[in-house]
Amino acid sequence: MVPFFPDDLFTADREVLLDLLYELGTGPSQRFILGEHTARFERELREQLGAADVVACSSGTSALTMLLHAMEVGPGDEVITPAFGCAPLAATVVNLGARPVFADIDPVTMTMDPEHAERLISPRTKVLMPAHMFSAMADMPAFTDLAARHGLRLLEDSAVAQGGVLDGRPAGLWGEAGVYSFVQVKTFGSIGEGGAVVTKDPELGRAVRMLRNHGQDGRTRFRHHRIGYNSRFDELMALFQLHRLPGLPARLERRAHIAAYYNARFEPLAEQGIQPPPGGRNGRCYYVYCLRARGRDELQQHLARQGVGTHVYYPRPLPRQPAFAACARGSWPRAELASQEILALPIYPHLTDTQVERIADAVCSFVPAPAPAGTR
Ligand SMILES: *Cc1c(COP(=O)(O)O)cnc(C)c1O
Repeated sequence: MVPFFPDDLFTADREVLLDLLYELGTGPSQRFILGEHTARFERELREQLGAADVVACSSGTSALTMLLHAMEVGPGDEVITPAFGCAPLAATVVNLGARPVFADIDPVTMTMDPEHAERLISPRTKVLMPAHMFSAMADMPAFTDLAARHGLRLLEDSAVAQGGVLDGRPAGLWGEAGVYSFVQVKTFGSIGEGGAVVTKDPELGRAVRMLRNHGQDGRTRFRHHRIGYNSRFDELMALFQLHRLPGLPARLERRAHIAAYYNARFEPLAEQGIQPPPGGRNGRCYYVYCLRARGRDELQQHLARQGVGTHVYYPRPLPRQPAFAACARGSWPRAELASQEILALPIYPHLTDTQVERIADAVCSFVPAPAPAGTR
């Protein structure tokens, strides 16, 4: 059986983790949050990216929340966000009292469609929040242009695209600010919750630094300049991420290699109703490998019988979720279709070549039921 979510993500790092825990737990400073290791982690990411600031925080969701807050999003404001994606894309907006306005997706990249987004702009629109999805970055040149033409803020949800590069610019640095997530399943996942704000705007960086620790400035304790959050970062997490950071490019490369192999195997499967995601390297970051299949549920069962675990991201569009139904107006036919056709295959870097071949063989051996007469 090849599981979709592997239980041996960090087996190779177990000894190191114990050493780091011991080092931190017995160290002289006895500082477990927002200490020297967090500062070094932020500095390394900042230098690697060429960002003005990187602020480590408690999760990708919290990073989005603090950025929306720093951009002064509140009641009466609208944020244009993708109809297809994860809950934080809408929940962070609603939790600040603003309204998410859902845009349909591009049928190839599955990311927010800039043309539909433009049609949704109203006098209340404050922020455009495109998100990179699965393996493809959103059309950031188009969103940059859109934001400039309409005078909107641009927040890039790059939670799944750390290491991705589009036209020479890293994911996270296309918007005024971007976010990363270190939750276990992400490409730079860790041993708990964590995230980061990355920005080319030092003012936004300063604002988020304050919001992260209840509006304090990091110098004078118990002076609260603004109402903030507890979104502090853990020193053990910083040490572990510093340990894992040098290996990230190789792990991303392995993911891209597996995706290229899958694509080569699946491109001839159009007759079987199977369509691989867009390939190549520009604007790609292979976090989740999602193919589309006409008989998705049958393919999923077929793969399960062959011992291949899969996952459906996402079984329904965000505006179709009960939680967001109240703020959903419009229709999102491409997001609806994607939610019915999409299926994610295992793509983690420690899959062996044999496992990768077995997964591809299993997909290629799928024989779909004939499409009902007159539908295709
Ligand atoms: C994972 C994810 C988030 C949230 O990150 P957490 O660390 O889980 O809070 C936000 N946006 C996208 C697109 C994500 O995939």
